[in-house]
Amino acid sequence: MIETLKQLNPEQPIWLQVGQLLDGQSTPLKHANLVYDQEQILFVGAQDQTPPAELLKPGQTEPDCILENYTVLPGLIDGHTHIFLEGAELDFAKRKAYQSQDAVDLLAASAERCRKLVKHGIIAMRDGGDKDGVGLFLSRHRPSGAAAEVFTPGPGINRIKRYGKFFCEPFEDFETAEQVVDNRIQRGADHIKIVPTGIINFAKAAVVAKPQYTIEEVEALTSVSHQRGKHVMAHASGALGIGIAIEGGVDTIEHGFFVSDEQLQRMLELGTTWVPTFAPVQKQVDHADAMGWGELERENLQIIVDNHAKSLRKALELGVTVLVGSDAGSCGVGHAEGLFYEMELLEQAGMPTLEVINACTGGNAKSLLDNPNYGRLAAGNKPRFILTEHQPLKSVSELRKNKTVVFDEHVFDSSEANMADF
Ligand SMILES: [Zn+2]
Repeated sequence: MIETLKQLNPEQPIWLQVGQLLDGQSTPLKHANLVYDQEQILFVGAQDQTPPAELLKPGQTEPDCILENYTVLPGLIDGHTHIFLEGAELDFAKRKAYQSQDAVDLLAASAERCRKLVKHGIIAMRDGGDKDGVGLFLSRHRPSGAAAEVFTPGPGINRIKRYGKFFCEPFEDFETAEQVVDNRIQRGADHIKIVPTGIINFAKAAVVAKPQYTIEEVEALTSVSHQRGKHVMAHASGALGIGIAIEGGVDTIEHGFFVSDEQLQRMLELGTTWVPTFAPVQKQVDHADAMGWGELERENLQIIVDNHAKSLRKALELGVTVLVGSDAGSCGVGHAEGLFYEMELLEQAGMPTLEVINACTGGNAKSLLDNPNYGRLAAGNKPRFILTEHQPLKSVSELRKNKTVVFDEHVFDSSEANMADF
């Protein structure tokens, strides 16, 4: 039946009847009807809601395709990536050589990556920053053909000589929060990325470096960003720095390792979203040999991941909004593979499967891109969705398996794309 779908002319409405429809926000519809053309989704309805004739081809009374064994769901969105980096490479020398390429080569590799992502059903991402302008370019000039869309902060904002040099430019290039935020916006930033903390020291199982900003400094950055209509994503791990980011009013806490239950409660009160990014730390566990970790670090890594899973369950119990970001591009986290892995890690940590899927589609779209047009199957949204014969509600792992991806006028078979080469 999928072969039939490929033959249909997307300039005219296409009517699909599918066994199950996940709209990216609510509960599944059974035996659903979906009508779309290459521009937009025209109609979504349950079994007893047949599409109105004016939305169909003249005289059409039957679906173009009946896909009873299929589930349809919106294209996935990665809530935290670094599109300019190749994640899967574990060899430090090779990673360094890749990163030292000039911006033109990095851009060519990244544009190709965006095209490949679509074939895996990933249609957009919120980038976490790069210093080479790759994200800014891709955000404004989409690669030709079907390519995942990049929403970017441009370079993150760290403090001079502190963590983040490879994806940031320092606050100190300017004098005030207003100047630094306006600089990013003038360069085309879709949102603002700040780096209030360092990273985890795995030997000490803690974030030992002192936070990069005070609450007042974070507040200054977030209030200017909000005045300009931009949300703020904050790299924050370690309770001290997480507290500063939360109280400073950021919109999303990225990573958030060592978050306390009290801080989760505070996030609920303030409406702060959490993007836990299990994948980059779990990959350190999975590849401990290649990373050169000894016994102590391995034990600490496991404890950190286990505690993170506990915090996730607490966050869900409280009702904190949790979204799905893989940190793809960071060491060991490939694009595409990283997002499927992050979904699995959230599921294994106790997030119900449908919630993971809704977070990775409608949730990520609304809270991360400030754009409801993505991540939902609803009339008026772009026709970018996944059709699968597997059982994504049994486990998100099923989404790794073969699927058909519709992206505007294009139809792809994911088996044409290789998950390993990211
Ligand atoms: Zn990141």
